[in-house]
Amino acid sequence: RPYTGPSYQQVEQMKGVYMPPSITNAYKKPVLLTQGHMQWLYDNDGKRYLDLFGGIVTVSVGHCHPKVNAALKDQLDVLWHTTNLYRHPKIYEYVEQLAAKLPGDLNVVYLVNSGSEANELATLLAKAYTGNLDIISLQTSYHGYTSSLMGLTATQSYRMAIPVPPGFYHAVHPDPFRGAFGGCRDSISQAPGSCSCTGECISTDKYVHQLNELLGNSVPAGRVAAFFAESIQGAGGVVQFPKGYLKKAQELIKKNGGLYVADEVQTGFGRTGDHFWGFETHGVKPDIVTMAKGIGNGFPLAAVVTTKEIAANHAKAAYFNTFGGNPMASTVGKAVLEVIEEEGLQQNSKVVGEYFIRQLMDLQKQHPVIGDVRGQGLMIGVELVEPGTKTPLTTSKVNDIHENIKDNGVLIARGGRFNNVFRIKPPMCITKQDYQSKVLQCEPTKEPIVDYGKTSLFEGFQIILENTILFPAGGGQPHDIGWLNDVEVLQVLRKGDEALHFTREPIDVGIE
Ligand code: PMP
Repeated sequence: RPYTGPSYQQVEQMKGVYMPPSITNAYKKPVLLTQGHMQWLYDNDGKRYLDLFGGIVTVSVGHCHPKVNAALKDQLDVLWHTTNLYRHPKIYEYVEQLAAKLPGDLNVVYLVNSGSEANELATLLAKAYTGNLDIISLQTSYHGYTSSLMGLTATQSYRMAIPVPPGFYHAVHPDPFRGAFGGCRDSISQAPGSCSCTGECISTDKYVHQLNELLGNSVPAGRVAAFFAESIQGAGGVVQFPKGYLKKAQELIKKNGGLYVADEVQTGFGRTGDHFWGFETHGVKPDIVTMAKGIGNGFPLAAVVTTKEIAANHAKAAYFNTFGGNPMASTVGKAVLEVIEEEGLQQNSKVVGEYFIRQLMDLQKQHPVIGDVRGQGLMIGVELVEPGTKTPLTTSKVNDIHENIKDNGVLIARGGRFNNVFRIKPPMCITKQDYQSKVLQCEPTKEPIVDYGKTSLFEGFQIILENTILFPAGGGQPHDIGWLNDVEVLQVLRKGDEALHFTREPIDVGIE
């Protein structure tokens, strides 16, 4: 569909005047997105991007997925309304379907609008149930942006110079790569040389000991309302905890009267591949689960799921939420669950994710600038360091590579305490071919339509790394021109895009 909205320059001007200055730009030259389909995005000039990050921020099953869109369009003509005052069949069908995805007695569903709202509600539920007031989360965690969640979120860059609300504590970061005690992960991307444990990870006990120390500070000492953790830290830099950490942490928290809240905002809905929920990988069962983002494939929807017993205490006061899970949101949520099932997207996350992680690990062998490759399923992190050290690669270098990858038609994100971790979390409909060779894959059938070149995404990454980091593989002389000086390479990458426009069969999905 041709783009007819305001020009790039007009939007930039409006941003300067009308948008809060605290809204950051992902890029020096931001992308003006105008259309999306499955794992592809298009900007105002019709340039196409492979979206390797949208899977987290919004789309679990693909941009404008035909089934999800059709369900929403159908509901648009039937009823828009509030969630709570009346009954609506879609809401009830949805909560039943969602609860069926959770283990055991986790079957009471609160529908809300955002991840922050879900975590706010979870803190309230935990305090009401336990009678305790203190909450513990992990250093470098992100759990949302509200004035009280400023205490739960521990990521410094989101903090203003105002006091954090009382009653929030942050436990030592159990990070096998950068954490105080190292550790080993339970995944294919074992931390490089960091652990000699044969069975249980000895570092885990050291981190759990630190958590125990922290409990001594809570008020009253040794009483806590809840421990919040993601199953793999997302914004914190795709941090996978050492083996057994979450299990031991939950046991300790339980002993101290608290609940374990699993924040599945990023790790839920099949993304980690082996299981539907990230916490299942750790062999734990939370007391409360919060979820958002991919739950609605881009539509504002989030949820808190807990047990009847925990919800009962909250019922001592009335609860109302105007829009959370309204008929349209629930319709979308239901369609998303069905698509994940019908298209085998959890399994796809596992297969494609493992493939990609292994390929990135191969790249790591050639490029000392890659300090660590980690992840599970389609939740992947690549930590960049000054070659040969663990010193985080400087922000300006990271930003330049990030910008360069975007200019070459691939969108990823940065994160982590030092903002030096590339976060790769594509929509779960991504295929191996998208990584292997630049293949146009626009239809939900997953049949490649045009294979247009020999340059794979990995070669693309490699080229970008060699040209931007100034440290070519094998330690040769740095390139002196800087960014993508290899004109031939650029031509190969670009050739594909041109070829597409001429050879692609039109597809009846509303793009182009
Ligand atoms: N929890 C986690 C793990 C998140 O990543 C985020 C958003 N980045 C949130 C909670 C907050 O979600 P929202 O932006 O929808 O409020």
